Amino acid sequence: MLELIKLPYGYDEFEGVIGKDTMEIHHSRHLQAYVNNYNGLVEGTKFADMTIEEVITQIDTVDESIRQGVRNNGGGVLNHNIYFTQLANNVELKDGELKTLINDTFGSLEAMIELLQKAGATRFGSGWSWLVLNGGKLEVTSTLNQDNPLSEGKTPLLGIDVWEHAYYLDYQNKRPEYLSQIFSIINWDVVEERFNAAK
Ligand code: MN
Repeated sequence: MLELIKLPYGYDEFEGVIGKDTMEIHHSRHLQAYVNNYNGLVEGTKFADMTIEEVITQIDTVDESIRQGVRNNGGGVLNHNIYFTQLANNVELKDGELKTLINDTFGSLEAMIELLQKAGATRFGSGWSWLVLNGGKLEVTSTLNQDNPLSEGKTPLLGIDVWEHAYYLDYQNKRPEYLSQIFSIINWDVVEERFNAAK
């Protein structure tokens, strides 16, 4: 069974980029609902004892009667755990293997961020934009609803929530404006840790 993650910062930590109300509602209501719904679905099944990463990786093996619910709610938990744990003020991407690979793949960090912004802005409806590691290569991609790249065999390194609930109170309908600001609070140390664990 899953638990709501504790945030390593206060709800008001990112005022000016993401306001306190958005952070509080996003974490304590949206994410809590995904946790509760997921636990209700998998209770009494073998999936209750598995990590959320294991379940989402093998989503096609989940019993069809609960598969879509597990995909939506389990993905909702995993995606938000990725999102909330990768936020911090004033953490630059340091020189190292990840930075080198980003430069070799995309030209620069700024060019990669532009691709992530474009992937998020053009994702119709609700979903996520992602930096993933796929067979040792970096890729920018996006998913629909709460789908996670793990279900496609790709390891997520950075995930940007482009559901309206992630930005509406601060940016209303201006998703590109949110996407222009969110990269100022990325904890690149966490992204690098994920890369080092996955490579
Ligand atoms: Mn969200």
